[in-house]
Amino acid sequence: MTRVLLLGGTGDALAIARILPAGHVYSLAGLGRVPDELSCAVRAGGFGGIGGLARYLHDEKIALVVDATHPYAAQMSRHAREACALADVPLWAVRRPAWQPQAGDDWREASDWGEIVERVAPFRRPLFTLGREALHHLHEIPASQHWTIRCLDAHPGNERASIVDARGPFDLDGERALFDAAGIDVVVSKNSGGRATEAKLAVARERGLAVVMLARPALPAADRIFDDAASARDALQHWLTQQ
Ligand code: NAP
Repeated sequence: MTRVLLLGGTGDALAIARILPAGHVYSLAGLGRVPDELSCAVRAGGFGGIGGLARYLHDEKIALVVDATHPYAAQMSRHAREACALADVPLWAVRRPAWQPQAGDDWREASDWGEIVERVAPFRRPLFTLGREALHHLHEIPASQHWTIRCLDAHPGNERASIVDARGPFDLDGERALFDAAGIDVVVSKNSGGRATEAKLAVARERGLAVVMLARPALPAADRIFDDAASARDALQHWLTQQ
């Protein structure tokens, strides 16, 4: 059997995993929920770097790797590229186009955490939507600020930080309610692209709020690149029928 290894951890990847029959593999880093409703096998945890992944591809007789990891999971994408080259396995990738600023947007790019802190300094009530990164800096919050941090980790926060433990998708009304309740005056975001977490940008736009946008990491080339899960799923379905 020719087997597919799908690298996931995103809604796009899960949508693709749903069409994978038994025998193919959906792989997760092991940080979040592991789905139990799929026909394909699900594995969780790292491969042990490029060499480990190349060995896995060989040992498991993988004939195609589909990288549908998050656009900021740059290490996994780089490892996939290198390991596929070593094992001579083709690599497809889903690369969600970045969000683009629209008329009225006030986006301020930051390339790392230090720049994020600088950009946020003039504000009092930032909303951090970067995942768990902000949790590592709870003891550095200036006295003039209260942070709202939305991430998947349940965490008590502290006197200067409230943690909102929530998983997207997020809609406009829900985002408006959160901005109102927390008095948000600036949004800190990755440029994830896609619809699921886009509403916060629309709310920032309608309220004239600044968005501090963490720059996207560079991602490696792939043999085929898809803009969205639907086109990758169609191509994969076609590929599977030809095996
Ligand atoms: P990363 O920095 O690129 O990867 C760190 C290490 O985690 C990799 O070297 C690999 O370990 C392991 N890993 C990552 N994705 C894996 C997968 N799908 N299957 C098996 N091992 C995997 O990734 P990250 O930014 O920590 O993200 C971890 C996971 O969360 C990814 O699956 C990603 O799609 C998902 N995610 C990330 C973000 C984000 O903003 N970064 C947002 C939403 C979801 P080894 O080197 O040992 O193989």
